[in-house]
Amino acid sequence: MSSSRRGPSSSGDESIAITGGLVVTAAGSSHCDLLISGERIVALGENLQRKASRSLDARGCYVIPGGIDPHTHLQYRVGANAETADDFRSGTRAAAFGGTTTVFDFAKRASGSSLADSCLARENEIADSALIDYAFHATLTADGLDGDPNEEVAALRDIGVGSIKIFLAYPGRMMIDDFLALDLMRAAAAEKIIIAVHAENGHLVQAATSRLLEQGKSAPRFHSDAHPEEAEEEAIERSISLARVAGCRLYIVHVSSASGAAAIQRARSVDYNIAGETCPQYLFRALEDYGDSDKEAVRHICSPPIRQRINQDHLWTALRTGALSTVGTDHAPFHIGKTTPLHQSRRQGLNDFSKTPNGVPGIEERLSLLFTYGVLAGRLSLERFVDCTSTSAARILGIYPQKGTLAIGSDADIVVWDPQPRYHLSRETHHSAVDYNLYEGLEVTGRPRYVLSRGELIVADAECTASPGRGRRIRAGALAAAEPPLTSGRT
Ligand SMILES: [Zn+2]
Repeated sequence: MSSSRRGPSSSGDESIAITGGLVVTAAGSSHCDLLISGERIVALGENLQRKASRSLDARGCYVIPGGIDPHTHLQYRVGANAETADDFRSGTRAAAFGGTTTVFDFAKRASGSSLADSCLARENEIADSALIDYAFHATLTADGLDGDPNEEVAALRDIGVGSIKIFLAYPGRMMIDDFLALDLMRAAAAEKIIIAVHAENGHLVQAATSRLLEQGKSAPRFHSDAHPEEAEEEAIERSISLARVAGCRLYIVHVSSASGAAAIQRARSVDYNIAGETCPQYLFRALEDYGDSDKEAVRHICSPPIRQRINQDHLWTALRTGALSTVGTDHAPFHIGKTTPLHQSRRQGLNDFSKTPNGVPGIEERLSLLFTYGVLAGRLSLERFVDCTSTSAARILGIYPQKGTLAIGSDADIVVWDPQPRYHLSRETHHSAVDYNLYEGLEVTGRPRYVLSRGELIVADAECTASPGRGRRIRAGALAAAEPPLTSGRT
């Protein structure tokens, strides 16, 4: 289907026309061509092929902004002997195959270092690896900060990091108290930086975990009992209260439950500075899928946990109405069977769920899952599909309109989405390095025919040609603005 005058490779400095597709943004859809020069989109309109040095045939396809995954954990170590299976190289390659062209990953504050210096060190560490563009959420640990919160946050703004992730969970490791949370929120408000929050009440989870272990209930199937919905709902409500007092913008990651989504919906009825994210694992996996099987349960351990199926309808409704804004993957893939010095802990979790590193894979499957079971199932409009896989994340995290839309001047991060192919998700065919697929055997419809990142064709006809290191850290935050209120464009 492709036509090319210069062969399959793309240098990133030529002009490319994408022709004959239905161009879909969060705001609407129209049949038109799209012209790219160098790294940017330079025109939308009729008959643009004649202005380009090559063209890509998008007939029968949707032309959409490249996916933005607001939540990934690549090249991420937990404790002494667990590291994610994907580094930035394999993880961003899998993302590209799935139609994602930007990821927001994390830069954890190193002991004795500032937040900004920790972000720069992380950038240095992965500079030769990323195939697509990326940004960081600066992350605090339980150690808090050495420096003054106002100076720390201003330094982040200066280097173009626009979000700080805090934990209300994991006491002793990651959790900060409400005093520090409030100080950070006030500083963030002053610098127009957004606070992202892992919202679970850490003391409640710790107490529930201890009780279960004392009762001998240490098998993987008990992990979800250690993370009751009330722990999530309380922490969401508390973080919203703190953010309102501080006047800062808030992004609640990985919302897993109906009650959590409802808390965000209540807040958003008066305040669009509050936004929430859910993840494919909460939309597509349920406790009922594996019952009492510990072998299956250990593949599903993440926090907040997979919930009962009854929550899924509420999460879909929240996505459709805009009560929840984005779908991020929280991609944190730990091997299930493979054993290496760094990949031991998931197996240890077979005897003690509290020793299992938390996290599940999904960086490649996000768009195909949402297209199939959102758009084709009638739950999401095409525009809302684009919004919650790309545009909303760009707006909330402050990279819009550089990314997240198809407009003149925007980066040419573009997916030509073929809605026809039907296939089954599988470990055998996915591109992540992890040794299992959470959605093994699930049938989906649709995949990228072409993926472009800043004007470079990086995926074509199921081949990825991107070089490691071509991905850049992008500046976030300066453009941050609250999302617009719901419009008729959102069904
Ligand atoms: Zn996460």
